[in-house]
Amino acid sequence: MNKLQAFFVKMMPAAWAREMEAESRQWMVRCTCGFERSVWDSGGMRWKAHAARRQYRLCPQCGEKTWHAVYLKREA
Ligand SMILES: [Zn+2]
Repeated sequence: MNKLQAFFVKMMPAAWAREMEAESRQWMVRCTCGFERSVWDSGGMRWKAHAARRQYRLCPQCGEKTWHAVYLKREA
């Protein structure tokens, strides 16, 4: 958990914090090389969001800065 995430978790009621983390873990960020991880694991937060979007970020696998697809991972 990074500083920003810790700040929000500390400021909000515990139930909200758990919900925010759970939702952030369901949102995935995927590089063009195929590498993907959750928004939460990449240090971000996504809560009460519905529309998928894209993020320009550095990929730890291929080392390139690319537009990553952000999408909601559906539970199987
Ligand atoms: Zn990549």
